Amino acid sequence: MRIPSALAIRATLLGLCFGLLQEPMILDNRLFAQTQHQLEKAYEDYQEETAEFVSKLQSLQQQAVRLGDRELEQKIADRLEILTSDGEAMKPLPRKLQPAIPFDMPAELRALHVQFRQACEDYAGQLYLLARRSQRLAPTFAFELINLLLQFDPDHTQARPMRGYVRQGDEWMTAFERDKLRSREIDHPRFGWIREDDRERYEAGERPYHNTWISAEKEQLLRQNFTQGWDIETEHFQIKTNVSLEKGVELGRKLETFYDYFISTFAPFYNSPEQIRQLFDSTTGRSKNRSQRYEVHFFRSKQEYVERLIRRIPQIAMTNGLYQLEDRVSYFYYDPEANNDATIFHEATHQLMYESHLAQRDVGREGHFWIVEGIACYMESFQVTETPDGFDYSVGDPRFIRFYWARHRLLEEDYYVPLQVFSKLGMIPYQQGDQQTLQQRYSQASGLAHFFMHFENGVYRTALMQYLAQIYHSNPSIQRNVQGLDKLTGVSYGTLDRQYREYIQDQQTMVGDQIPIQ
Ligand SMILES: [Zn+2]
Repeated sequence: MRIPSALAIRATLLGLCFGLLQEPMILDNRLFAQTQHQLEKAYEDYQEETAEFVSKLQSLQQQAVRLGDRELEQKIADRLEILTSDGEAMKPLPRKLQPAIPFDMPAELRALHVQFRQACEDYAGQLYLLARRSQRLAPTFAFELINLLLQFDPDHTQARPMRGYVRQGDEWMTAFERDKLRSREIDHPRFGWIREDDRERYEAGERPYHNTWISAEKEQLLRQNFTQGWDIETEHFQIKTNVSLEKGVELGRKLETFYDYFISTFAPFYNSPEQIRQLFDSTTGRSKNRSQRYEVHFFRSKQEYVERLIRRIPQIAMTNGLYQLEDRVSYFYYDPEANNDATIFHEATHQLMYESHLAQRDVGREGHFWIVEGIACYMESFQVTETPDGFDYSVGDPRFIRFYWARHRLLEEDYYVPLQVFSKLGMIPYQQGDQQTLQQRYSQASGLAHFFMHFENGVYRTALMQYLAQIYHSNPSIQRNVQGLDKLTGVSYGTLDRQYREYIQDQQTMVGDQIPIQ
């Protein structure tokens, strides 16, 4: 069990503090000072509430130990971890409303359960007030508070809808799901959203096709032509595919899980008013329309992928996935031999970041290009595991192949370009060179992304997100004057280089010769 210290709380949420004022240039000095003061006050209040809550939880935990309730003890330990770890402990929100505390428990034990729930609800209530207070001045800070409080009270009646959920009976669902259910559709595990009345025919191997029913085999043949392919709609994605309905549905589920992770972890990346609306997604209780979804094309084979794209991208055969800035589409193909997931999460990262703004623009052309690829490579390690109450995700396992190579390049090949020099590379010079150079650059970029996400419980994480926010910004003057990571972290390049080396060495010691995960 980890005992949270005041220092640990501070380090974890320093991220929030960094993110407070994102664009001070829009305020004059006096107003800036005033705003800064209000936000500092909000942040202090947050810390105070949290410290109090932590000690309350610790005392409840001791009582749970005394009464021999292992399950409750663990539950409290999990909550404590959320407050002290670098955000990894956050869980996807449960769909079901929290069940009532049973009446048939021994009185003393029941009282403890009630106290625990009450303490969580009180804390969540306090964070909600803080979020309301800071929402206008520091929407990303407010958004992080909303996410945090939902970990303690997932049924909070004001906060949960701010994440785009509506309540139906004893369940929370998105507006999209609610609309589907209203039009009598069900989310079939294999076929995705289909009309409830069609379920039996689907399961019997029939498929609707232009106002008639045909066999699944026949449909499969007809839809091999990509323009006649399946059109699969999920909450945030629009998938066109000629692989199969089932594979398309599976891809949609992966992308939605990834989206959920991304939006809650990368809140500081979203800092313009237009993007904040994106963060507090579907607060109006309406689901998205087709043009608001991320478009994905998923081909049957590599050959088809290459044929379709080679005219525009001559080197397409060297890639195994692509996000095309110009048409705002991610392209993938089905490959039974390879880890499709890594490619999917890589390209989805490019897509979610780029489409955080409406403007057509270049990204990293003048410099800082390494992180555009580094963060996408880092996200390749995104993994979803099923749990009894839904699913859980993780990202950044140091055994993952990208990080294995990051260690190898630095420690075995002695390849390292100092961060200051590395950051100067724009898109074109970064992508030039022989295969080995490119691989070395990608490995270093992956390792550095890991470092900036996780070093010392994530102290640099928000700085990294602000860096990305500037690189992807729609305002050309912000894009031209991207602040370096030395400025954003307040730590010199030389020190960052040294810390990175130590970080990689420590990681190597920790991982040892465990087999890399592909
Ligand atoms: Zn990429």
